[in-house]
Amino acid sequence: MQVLKFGGTSVGSAERMKEVAKLVNYPGKKIVVLSAMSGTTDQLVKVTKALYAHNSEEASKLLKALEPKYRETVEKLFTSEEYKKKGNELITQHFNLLWSFTLDMFTHNEEKTILAEGELLSTALFHYYLEEQKIPSILMPALNFMRIDEDGEPDIEYIEEHLKRELSKDPHSQLFITQGYICRNPFGQIDNLKRGGSDYTACLVGAAINAEEIQIWTDIDGMHNNDPRIVPNTFPIAELSFDEAAELAYFGAKILHPYCIRPAKKRNVPVRLLNTMQPEAKGTLISRNASGDAIKAVAAKYKITVIKIKSDRMLMAYGFLRSVFEVFERYKTPIDVITTSEVAVSLTIDDNSHIDDIIKELEIFGTVSAEMNQVIICIVGDFLADRHGYAVRIFDSLKDVPIRMISYGGSKNNISILVNAEHKNDALLALNKGLFTKNK
Ligand code: ADP
Ligand code: ASP
Ligand code: MG
Repeated sequence: MQVLKFGGTSVGSAERMKEVAKLVNYPGKKIVVLSAMSGTTDQLVKVTKALYAHNSEEASKLLKALEPKYRETVEKLFTSEEYKKKGNELITQHFNLLWSFTLDMFTHNEEKTILAEGELLSTALFHYYLEEQKIPSILMPALNFMRIDEDGEPDIEYIEEHLKRELSKDPHSQLFITQGYICRNPFGQIDNLKRGGSDYTACLVGAAINAEEIQIWTDIDGMHNNDPRIVPNTFPIAELSFDEAAELAYFGAKILHPYCIRPAKKRNVPVRLLNTMQPEAKGTLISRNASGDAIKAVAAKYKITVIKIKSDRMLMAYGFLRSVFEVFERYKTPIDVITTSEVAVSLTIDDNSHIDDIIKELEIFGTVSAEMNQVIICIVGDFLADRHGYAVRIFDSLKDVPIRMISYGGSKNNISILVNAEHKNDALLALNKGLFTKNK
């Protein structure tokens, strides 16, 4: 069985949906995971923000601006009056639910329900389209099997058991359609896997069924060697190991959700990144095999905060770092990069939700300073300890960029550098020139 995930742009219009239908219509059992049509989740996030601000007029305006996109999709997607009617009724139903939140009470739970509407709409429309085209398929609700635990982590056992149960309801079906991103929490309420979470759904589903392959179809021909939104002339990387891809995803390569490689790696299910606009392109294959090339790619993770704790009394005492880490653990805040000296420790976090409490607790140990708006630049490859020269090439490339922190040796796949946000583009461009351009 294969799992194929199509992102927002890939299902972003009636034309795109028709292309996806062609791509999935081949023999063999498969689960197709769809995102919301592009722009929808962004717009729904704006709606929830307006509702949190008690501005239901603004929320209504935002919904009013979104609805025509769906009406137009229905007009263009379906040929028969019967399916146009069905499609329009579906949209009316979903938008009625959305409108209802502008009139009624709005809480955290409603926020998640609103955000789920994008994937519920795209999958239902796509399923109707397949039906009209007489392509047999089953719409398999993700809310029946995707679940997170109290810590917001996927509940792997639950997912596996319930997904298998869902699939066994239609043992002879070849094509299952389901929603990316959305799930339930342990209380049964609607929740999600955070922005970009459809990739995570696909990989969790692929791991749960031990799929032959997980395909992530998007709007670019694979993982590029640098951020194509910033750096010109980037190119796709043919092969990456799970560890390399996981580092790139975690450290900001937007093409993949930060955690989605973990489940695939655990079950050794290869992940292929493919381009819906250019289906014949080879894309990127992520698997257990490493291709051996030293420096593969560069990614950047934004909105990082660096926290520095200076303490001349306690740093050398054993148990000091543990006490520091325990503070972050209490607030469920992961640390990304860490450097130490005899008198100070600097570490970075990307989640500022508890920063004030964290700083207050850290002040017991010494002088604490925090600086926001930092960027982690992550250089990924296979940095074998017995080869040398990588660091020289990297730092030579960055000779004109002020560097705040360096982390080397934490893993054999990653060298991380912290720079101020204002130097991010310069750093990415300089690394591209120094590491990937032949005639520099
Ligand atoms: P989807 O909606 O299909 O999930 P995303 O927008 O989440 O697509 O991810 C694809 C985008 O990721 C690309 O259009 C590209 O701009 C961006 N991106 C950032 N870094 C990289 C990278 N290293 N390689 C490829 N794409 C990248
Ligand atoms: N629709 C969700 C988002 O925009 C999930 C996804 O596209 O992966 O974040
Ligand atoms: Mg995405």
